[in-house]
Amino acid sequence: MNDSHPSIPEARARADALRAQLRHFHAQVMPAGLRRKSEHHQVLDKADYALWMRLLQEQGWAIGHWPAAHGGRDWSLLERFAFEEELARLGCPWVIPFGVKYVGPVIYAYGSAAQQARFLPRIADGSDFWCQGYSEPGAGSDLAALKTVALRDGYRYRVSGQKVWTTYAQWADWMFCLVRTPRADRRPQQQISFLLVDLRSPGVSVRPIATMDGYRHVNEVWLDEVEVPLDQLVGAEGEGWTYAKYLLKNERTAGAIPGMVLHALARLRRAAVEAGRGADVALAHRIGELELRSIALRAMAYRGVEAMMASTDHGAEASLIKLRGTELYQDVAETLVDLLGPAGVAFDIDALHAASAPPLGPDDAGGIVKDHLYNRAATIFGGASEIQRNIVAKTALGL
Ligand SMILES: Cc1cc2nc3c(=O)[nH]c(=O)nc-3n(C[C@H](O)[C@H](O)[C@H](O)COP(=O)(O)OP(=O)(O)OC[C@H]3O[C@@H](n4cnc5c(N)ncnc54)[C@H](O)[C@@H]3O)c2cc1C
Repeated sequence: MNDSHPSIPEARARADALRAQLRHFHAQVMPAGLRRKSEHHQVLDKADYALWMRLLQEQGWAIGHWPAAHGGRDWSLLERFAFEEELARLGCPWVIPFGVKYVGPVIYAYGSAAQQARFLPRIADGSDFWCQGYSEPGAGSDLAALKTVALRDGYRYRVSGQKVWTTYAQWADWMFCLVRTPRADRRPQQQISFLLVDLRSPGVSVRPIATMDGYRHVNEVWLDEVEVPLDQLVGAEGEGWTYAKYLLKNERTAGAIPGMVLHALARLRRAAVEAGRGADVALAHRIGELELRSIALRAMAYRGVEAMMASTDHGAEASLIKLRGTELYQDVAETLVDLLGPAGVAFDIDALHAASAPPLGPDDAGGIVKDHLYNRAATIFGGASEIQRNIVAKTALGL
């Protein structure tokens, strides 16, 4: 990512042009079947996501934020933010971040030339599907407490332990993960290393975790004496915490959240009319308050992004966007589900898998409820709200 160029007015103009291209792409280029499925919040499978990522790649967008030297477009932070926001506002599928947004930048920033040549082209063109192995039982918010251990044995590490909540591990070819490389003379955070693990290796088992929307998003990943060649260590042994923090910063600067709020608010306004409650003053107040919070969120987000580009940020901007954005999104989604009435209760995951209409209400009702149930977790993953508040208190308020 190139945050220092271009100037902010230029970056704003480029972001506006990119938004216009995205609207054209959504209306004219995106296959109708995929557009319909995502607009109706139906269940997307691995093939849908592979198609989606390939379409973005064909437009040069999947890695637009990478440096040109690695095939990207040197997008400013503002363009990247606008890209994520506009896609989400249009109701497009999620841009799966694990390869292009998370591990790709770590590899081009800290990986060896050989790792860059081996992994980056396959991340860029979507050949490899990645997942993120950070969290463990007992090491989520307190990530530095992780216990998965990598012991050096000749030209390899032997890795044993358990990762948890690993999104899409059931589809992934590779997992980037944090492991403990023990050294008695070092503090705990200096014993953490960043490893790239081939999930087809002997000793890896992936087990599903059921979520309340009935879909399979997350998994446990068990590692039993898994052999990982030394050339799959990124950077230096014991420096993984530095790379992990770099990655977390990328994880939290998400334009998708304000975009999801805008999309859900537009659907909420339509739902009020569909439910014959266009003149309901109490409901109008409730929606009005959500709209005001959305305007405030976007103002804060864009001010924060531009401050980051100008290096005048206080360091808590990404946390504020994550905190306020996810809480607002949940409130909008809950209001929408309330408005669906009985259709919001008759939730049928099989209908969503079959991409067929739900038994009651508008034909996106099931999908709205599915997303609402899943997004209860949005205030937990990527750093729980309490943790974001701690960061804001320390970084922005100096408490
Ligand atoms: C749907 C979903 C998908 C996920 N995907 C991934 C993934 O792909 N890869 C991955 O590595 N992880 C993933 N996670 C894990 C996620 O990052 C963790 O759940 C999150 O970091 C919280 O950790 P925890 O679950 O261990 O909860 P804990 O850290 O045990 O927290 C429990 C509660 O205590 C609060 N708390 C903890 N510490 C403090 C503190 N210091 N001050 C105040 N309150 C505190 C928390 O805010 C929370 O409310 C996912 C989680 C979910 C739910």
